[in-house]
Amino acid sequence: MKRRHFLKRVSISSLGMSIVPSLFTFAETSETTKNNMTISQKKKPIAICTWAFKNATAMAGEALSKGAKALDAAVIGAEVEENNLKNTTVGKGGTPDREGNVTLDACVMDSNGDCGAVVCVEHITNVAALAKKVMTETPHVMLSGKGAEEFGYQQGFKKEELLTPSSIEAFEAWKKSPEYKPIINIENHDTIGMLCMDEDGDIAGACSTSGLSYKMKGRIGDSPIIGSGLFIDNEIGGAAATGLGEEVMKTVGSFLIVELMRNGMSPQQACKEAVERIVKKNKGYKDFQIAYIAMNKAGEVGSYCIHKGFSYMTYKDGENTETASQSYIKD
Ligand code: ASP
Repeated sequence: MKRRHFLKRVSISSLGMSIVPSLFTFAETSETTKNNMTISQKKKPIAICTWAFKNATAMAGEALSKGAKALDAAVIGAEVEENNLKNTTVGKGGTPDREGNVTLDACVMDSNGDCGAVVCVEHITNVAALAKKVMTETPHVMLSGKGAEEFGYQQGFKKEELLTPSSIEAFEAWKKSPEYKPIINIENHDTIGMLCMDEDGDIAGACSTSGLSYKMKGRIGDSPIIGSGLFIDNEIGGAAATGLGEEVMKTVGSFLIVELMRNGMSPQQACKEAVERIVKKNKGYKDFQIAYIAMNKAGEVGSYCIHKGFSYMTYKDGENTETASQSYIKD
């Protein structure tokens, strides 16, 4: 039996006084029931996400505070950016591929180790929720393209045009001098990776993107790949990525960060080590951006990126805070 569950079932009267203080350090918040005989323990919920998507962490945090499970809150947070037409690399309004098709990728991972993903979805906005349906309603982990969309319509998702007047305008301008440059710098990536811890202390996450701007048709990045764009191990913590997906995939970045935390690193140290491996692998070449966020089981969070300019949001104790990430290149 896990210690937390064990403690829930233990009556105060059966505990020696010397044990009681350790109970209260284990649980961030504790409350006694009306007869003072049993203890129920609730963690303070935490939601973090890539970038300054303050509405995403606010919505996810509010849901967590009302008792939502971590995965539901992570999907709620991802939906905020999927529905945000001003975000040009997530959901509706996302930048198309070089042939003018918007194709969305997403994945989710739950505290019990289950996961779901969709790739190359052209007509459904809320792909993190669709990935969750793949997890809960099919025996599979990943569905692609038309199959993912047909499954989505069966599940009640609406068929939508994901191009918007402004994304069409930007695409038309790009077509005038279409340089194929699959590099993500500090300006052109806004993938949302969300990590949530609920009142039970369970961790889950979601990651959603339209991928590289004007990518090759069919290109998939790290964001929907479990272990690359997102990974959760509820005993240890979780991590999520944004930036040049190819480099994240080659180093299985989010899985790596969780394993580094398992071996004793803090979320911050683990994100730093994962970024440094990418720089080292590229023999010091770092003319692209990668950024990671991570959270451990104790509710500590951290982040690291290659270039300055990346920040992340943290919702905790009812406060929603933006933090500038430390970076490999300091200026
Ligand atoms: N990681 C995403 C990809 O490579 C892009 C991004 O973070 O904006 O598809």
